Amino acid sequence: MSIRAQLSTPRKAVMPRPILATIHTDALTHNLARARANAPDARAWAVVKANAYGHGLERAFEGLRAADGFALLDLDEAKRLRALDWRGPILLLEGCFDARDLELCSRLGLWHTIHCNEQIDMLAAHKTLLPHRIFLKMNSGMNRLGFKPERFRAAWTRLNVLPQVEEISLMTHFSDADGPKGIAAQLSAFNAVTHDLPGERNLSNSAGLMRHAPELAQASDWVRPGIVLYGSSSDFPEHSAADLGLAPTMTLSSKIIGLQNLVAGDSVGYGSQFVADAAMRIGVVACGYADGYPRHCGTGTPVLVNGVRTRLLGRVSMDMVMVDLTPVPQAAMGSEVTLWGRSASGAVLPIDEVAHAAGTVGYELMCALAQRVPVLLA
Ligand SMILES: *Cc1c(COP(=O)(O)O)cnc(C)c1O
Repeated sequence: MSIRAQLSTPRKAVMPRPILATIHTDALTHNLARARANAPDARAWAVVKANAYGHGLERAFEGLRAADGFALLDLDEAKRLRALDWRGPILLLEGCFDARDLELCSRLGLWHTIHCNEQIDMLAAHKTLLPHRIFLKMNSGMNRLGFKPERFRAAWTRLNVLPQVEEISLMTHFSDADGPKGIAAQLSAFNAVTHDLPGERNLSNSAGLMRHAPELAQASDWVRPGIVLYGSSSDFPEHSAADLGLAPTMTLSSKIIGLQNLVAGDSVGYGSQFVADAAMRIGVVACGYADGYPRHCGTGTPVLVNGVRTRLLGRVSMDMVMVDLTPVPQAAMGSEVTLWGRSASGAVLPIDEVAHAAGTVGYELMCALAQRVPVLLA
């Protein structure tokens, strides 16, 4: 069986409900190259946490093999990558959670973040098999993980004398790379403390890489793109994925499984949230919030029917949504519906637009793709 077939959900003998997620390997490869182009001299981690942003780690790996390393959080995901025979770098972005994790780091050759003194204590007490490659994390202003600038050098010095440590790299994370505040204050806090320390510099999520490439490219040995690899814009709505040259990597598609003709005054769905002001034809689509489609999408959320852009009507229910067929009069039972991603005709509905309609971000939609949705690796 081909790798693609193995990594796709097995087909059932019975006719399945027509919902399907398609993962586009070629788009993952394209987006990685696009991200790299902004820091051509730096090495690129492909961030594959959260099961590769909902795409499936093994599937995403097919498209992201050209990365210099893979960054993730979960030790199980690190094991899965090694099981795929990935021998290159793997970085644990939150480091170890327990002293026992360090044994696995030694065994699997995992590089790990150190963001607090408790993690240094664990390492100092660890009877290691092989010395560890550490990424020491500075809290340069995000106030999530890391040592404050004034505590950073003491942490570095502590690590530097441990026999368990082979090499220390330097790392920070930007809170506002996608917004008006930018990265200047955090980058200068980082540089002020680390300028005379040896070690590779590991900076920048997608937004930093896409918006601040000139400053970051020369300051970075490693960059850490995540969301742009998956074809979602790092600063929507200011820039769309297309503006950034990104291609969608996940398509959520379904079909029309019912049709209704409305007259003026007819309402649609739970709570009668949409009321027709004239006669119209609507389609019922086999996709609902139990598939991972956001329930907060209301009337007007964009959707493609046969590749033609139209809109959602009324409330999203567990297993179905209703769509306006006015712009697609030829739509019929079985017509293709694209909830996000790429239609058969090549028309694209950016996941970011659907997320925006639900008051959230593309990340959340990808990560929330439901277990019950079959996946095809294309
Ligand atoms: C998730 C994450 C990234 C990637 O962020 P994107 O916004 O998806 O590019 C980079 N670095 C760290 C520390 C992260 O947790």
